[in-house]
Amino acid sequence: MATDPQFSPNTTFTLLRESQDTHVRTRLGGIYYLLAWLLTWGFSAAPGSMPVLGTVATLFFAAMMLLRWLHRLPSEEGDAALHRWIDRHWLLILGTSLGWGLAHAWALLRPEFEPSRLIATLSTVAFSTAMAFNFPMRKRRCVSAILLLYLPGLAVLGWHWPAQEALAVTLAFYLSYLLLALNRSHREYHGTLVMEQQLVDQRERYDQLSRTDSLTQLGNRLQFNNLFPAMVAEARRMRTPLSLVLLDIDFFKRINDEHGHASGDTCLSAFAERMRQVFRRDSDALLRLGGEEFGVLMPNTPLEQARELAEHFRQQLAEQGFSLPGQTLPLTSSLGVGCLDTEHNESAEAFFKRVDDALYRAKAEGRDRLVLATP
Ligand code: GH3
Ligand code: MG
Ligand code: MG
Repeated sequence: MATDPQFSPNTTFTLLRESQDTHVRTRLGGIYYLLAWLLTWGFSAAPGSMPVLGTVATLFFAAMMLLRWLHRLPSEEGDAALHRWIDRHWLLILGTSLGWGLAHAWALLRPEFEPSRLIATLSTVAFSTAMAFNFPMRKRRCVSAILLLYLPGLAVLGWHWPAQEALAVTLAFYLSYLLLALNRSHREYHGTLVMEQQLVDQRERYDQLSRTDSLTQLGNRLQFNNLFPAMVAEARRMRTPLSLVLLDIDFFKRINDEHGHASGDTCLSAFAERMRQVFRRDSDALLRLGGEEFGVLMPNTPLEQARELAEHFRQQLAEQGFSLPGQTLPLTSSLGVGCLDTEHNESAEAFFKRVDDALYRAKAEGRDRLVLATP
């Protein structure tokens, strides 16, 4: 897959996936380096004749294995922590690779390893193959790891074993295949990530769309149904005031009847725009609850503050009306305003009904007015 111009390898999503994949994939590998070394050493002609180097190498591969296991993914959030984790983990991978490359070269150099030399060479081939297919996330680092695994042994073969020319050439050919394979798996790995990220983005976009009213761009009923119980629960838990304003346009049917449905739609959009200009706090949730009914959820807002804003909205609308090309129509709305009663653990349903009743009273008492919902 061609690299997507919008794809940035530094997004949190990509970094998180990369570090999770790296973490999972290095867990197994550590054991095999240790095992391969123990086999190479154990099946050599005289394991007892090299106790110090043998033990040092065993401890080294055991330590690398443990470090890979113990190096947990960062608990703190943020790209910087993930970058740091990935860099450090690659140090472990590169360290193990260098360790194995040297062990292989040593096994080729020392005559005691004659019986187990094949184990070391086969392991080198296996490790570098696993590297190319398991760690394609970072191409340059993976190439370095493969070269660290491969080159010390290849150098020894080239210089000290002219008779092993065929093996050296074969290994070199295989190395070139590995580098090509790595190139492909690198592309595929990131191609898959791009696709996954696009799917996640798309889902978020659809999710956003499904919660947005297309005419006014305010949150819709579904959004309200999600937000309202959550905000009520939060306000009850934190004992903070949550205010709710319900608004209903007065005699809206007349606008439709006298000026057409399209003008009615324009009026609804204009009404929503006015709401955005008055209820401006980031935490306020502005919603179209249905037809010509709207709502504002105001967390951390006491009743008096909500009443003031809502009353300001009502007055401004009544003064300015609704502008159509060439004329201005009178436009008013009725409002119910209330604040959640956290003292008595009021439920979301009871709270909504209380404010809705206040709105109903505002209509009944003659419209273009605000009625406070009494506790
Ligand atoms: P009241 O003061 O009692 O609220 O009177 P009203 O006319 O505003 O209320 P009513 O419920 O009788 O009528 C609401 C109207 O809103 C009827 C419906 O056709 C209209 N309406 C609902 N949704 C839309 C919409 O999306 N676009 C348009 N243009 N009109 C809508
Ligand atoms: Mg109405
Ligand atoms: Mg209505």
